[in-house]
Amino acid sequence: MPNPSLLILSGDGIGPEVMAEVRKVIGWYGAKRDLVFDVSEDLVGGAAYDAHGTPLHDDTMTRAQEVDAVLLGAVGGPKYDDLDFSVKPERGLLRLRKEMDLFANLRPAQCFDALADFSSLKRDVVAGLDIMIVRELTSGIYFGEPRGIIEDGNERVGINTQRYTESEIDRAARSAFELARKRRNKVCSMEKANVMESGILWREIVQKVHDEDYPDVELSHMYADNGAMQLVRAPKQFDVIVTDNLFGDILSDCAAMLTGSLGMLPSASLGAPMANGRPKALYEPVHGSAPDIAGQGKANPIACILSFAMALRYSFDQGAEADRLEAAVEQVLADGLRTADLLGEEGATPVSTSGMGDAIVAAL
Ligand code: ATP
Ligand code: MG
Repeated sequence: MPNPSLLILSGDGIGPEVMAEVRKVIGWYGAKRDLVFDVSEDLVGGAAYDAHGTPLHDDTMTRAQEVDAVLLGAVGGPKYDDLDFSVKPERGLLRLRKEMDLFANLRPAQCFDALADFSSLKRDVVAGLDIMIVRELTSGIYFGEPRGIIEDGNERVGINTQRYTESEIDRAARSAFELARKRRNKVCSMEKANVMESGILWREIVQKVHDEDYPDVELSHMYADNGAMQLVRAPKQFDVIVTDNLFGDILSDCAAMLTGSLGMLPSASLGAPMANGRPKALYEPVHGSAPDIAGQGKANPIACILSFAMALRYSFDQGAEADRLEAAVEQVLADGLRTADLLGEEGATPVSTSGMGDAIVAAL
């Protein structure tokens, strides 16, 4: 069997800084757990534009389609603000998502106990929180036609169309049910079936997929506005939440704030299964390139490290090793180590980006 393959695209800003810490973790798995990855590296975003005049070279796209998983740092920065839209750094990431057809965006919101008091919410609301939001990523109101700003009599009208096909809902629902089976076996589907046709179809198809193929999973339905309230009021009632592109965008940002810092949040974007049965996948921290702190050793590498933990779990079938890595993160936080974004409590030990990476490897 060949080694599992991983394409690393560090990108811009703090991307390369946090990725350097992930490389230490990958090195540890190779040396200590005999888990050797076939790692290749390439450029994306502004870095790719500087080298090739395009935010994603065709060769990089081809490689991304071949590997078991892609791990991306961050793209963008003020240096590229004035570029034409067609070559903006973000377009590199959008092209990856589109051509790999990554339709399920997984955003876990997990509150590490050591940070429960740091969260903007109360300890009893967030301590031990571990939920997963599955956001449909390739359809819905962000892509539906017709769209545009049109003239209508003497004023203009802005138009977007929420549109979902049965098969788009079906595949998003399946991703959620599969995930739930590996977690606490519970899915809550959120839409607005009370006021939206797409919501009515969403509810019907999710229920059908459940009844036909996942009757063992506990399924509930909730209107998305109530869902937002419940997420803030009592988030621990949820395990997996599945929702459309727009509601998922909002609800996952809302859930993110339950956990502390943007520097803690990983994500995965999954597509259809490949020949080996595992989904096409791209893993990345939720945060961006953070130009305000780039190059200063201030970036928190945990989001990127936890993104690699997700890759271990969902692309490499190494759930126990993913647990091990998450436990190492929990350990260093319990020991009081904090990058700048997490500082504020008494008695915390400030560490740099590489100090945090070293501590996590030591905890492993
Ligand atoms: P993008 O458009 O790429 O999402 P953004 O400006 O919206 O970029 P970020 O780049 O994520 O968002 O930065 C938002 C804020 O969070 C910045 O002040 C940044 O310094 C901080 N931040 C982001 N990521 C981290 C991190 N890993 N560690 C520490 N602080 C971070
Ligand atoms: Mg942003």
